[in-house]
Amino acid sequence: MEKRIIALFSAVCILLGALLWRTMDVGQKQETQVLQRTNTRVLTVGTSRGVIYDRNLQPLAPSDERLIAAAAPCEAAMQTMTALFGKDAAKQMLLRGAPCLAKAAQQVETPFVRTFSVPVRRGDSALAAHLIGTLDGENHGSGGIEKAFDALLRRYSGSLSVRFSVDAAGRVLPGEAKEILDANFNSKGGVALTIDSEMQRVTEAALQNSRIQSGCAVIMDVQTGEIRAMASVPSFDTEAANPSLSPFTNKALGAYSVGSVFKPLLAAFALEHGVKRSFSYTCTGTCQIGETQFQCFGKKAHGKQTMKEALENSCNTYFIRLMQKIDETAFLSFCETLGFSRPLPLCDGLFCSKGSLPAARDLLLPGERANFAFGQGRLLASPVQLLSVYQLLATGLQTPPTVLCGTVDEHGALQRETPFAPVRRLKETTVRQMQALLAASAKAAGTVGAGKTGTAQSGIFADEKEVCRTWFAGFFPAKMPRYAVVILNENGVSGAADCAPVFGEICRALP
Ligand SMILES: [Zn+2]
Repeated sequence: MEKRIIALFSAVCILLGALLWRTMDVGQKQETQVLQRTNTRVLTVGTSRGVIYDRNLQPLAPSDERLIAAAAPCEAAMQTMTALFGKDAAKQMLLRGAPCLAKAAQQVETPFVRTFSVPVRRGDSALAAHLIGTLDGENHGSGGIEKAFDALLRRYSGSLSVRFSVDAAGRVLPGEAKEILDANFNSKGGVALTIDSEMQRVTEAALQNSRIQSGCAVIMDVQTGEIRAMASVPSFDTEAANPSLSPFTNKALGAYSVGSVFKPLLAAFALEHGVKRSFSYTCTGTCQIGETQFQCFGKKAHGKQTMKEALENSCNTYFIRLMQKIDETAFLSFCETLGFSRPLPLCDGLFCSKGSLPAARDLLLPGERANFAFGQGRLLASPVQLLSVYQLLATGLQTPPTVLCGTVDEHGALQRETPFAPVRRLKETTVRQMQALLAASAKAAGTVGAGKTGTAQSGIFADEKEVCRTWFAGFFPAKMPRYAVVILNENGVSGAADCAPVFGEICRALP
């Protein structure tokens, strides 16, 4: 935007001379007369695009405004122009005499200089910037919602211009009228997201204040599947300390190793298929499966574990044993039903990375089966997919995750999307048990609500050290849950240290 304004400014200054103009909007009839007598010069003060709103029709984008001054340089305008642009620039403008545009710091309306408030797309203060996405040089959406709804947002695009009457040399004619051309510039049309601005603010602040340099936090309303907040770091306006960290990636849509945040899903499936939560296994810290030795964190021997203790201690060997108690092929099909290894859509044109599941033949190998039990091996999933899993654990129901609330017409009226019908996938008895188990697990991690930590090996090495994905995934409150919340650190130390505090801070601030 800024470059275009500077380009316009330069072009106009080179091309045109200057005389006087007076501030007076004219009707079509008068304009026709002006055109008959003179040449005209049109300067575009700003362009607009459809609005992106939150669920309460608060605009998310554009998020900022900039003042642009349109000036007809003349002696009488010099005092105002000097105050606005500085003495030297004002003198240059007067010398060239051409109508021109420049950024202004304050509002002005005189017969010779007038400022206009122009919306700025994706300003530094934009909420949900990673979800909203980016525009290319042609003002077309190149990422996120801007891309997914490009056609609709362009349909509501507009422009604000000023037409000056000029002589053959391009100089503003003294005493001639200027006209403001408003072509749909302030249309209210656009798209409404399910994001709640207040929750988004809380989520972004919690993430910014945390030790997570690269990661995300997402919130879902468990009754509807609607995403209420989706935040990533690094933020757009942060100079990343590490150049390998991309500020333009919406981490919530990426696919990652999930590790132990997957264990509760196996626990729920086992409960659903007749395994009791009292089922126990004595952990010695390691177990031999085929040629591979699996271990708990630090080879710690957890001793006799029930399902509750195994979740609290994140005991790998317990879940390896639990996987042997169930039909792993049926569990794999269940995961497929939940959306794993499919590109989950958040709306038309915006998808999560599909991630991956082991194939049924992989699970014939005892080592692969063991890895799958504690969320490692071939399993990759997005934070949004995990939200969907924790919605299920919280309620027994699943609805497709969505960010689309509806479309908004040019008058600002919301046409709401038809909500998805929830599908029951877990019995209520299983849900009640999972609520209690995950409340104990969250307490063990030192946080509120219900949930599970995760620290997953990624197979990616940096400085000869393996990058760990650390997580906290859960819901809040533990009883009668309202929100599922997932926190990811792309390169962390432990889920309890990195992510559980962010989960707690967000949950305590939720309405
Ligand atoms: Zn153990």
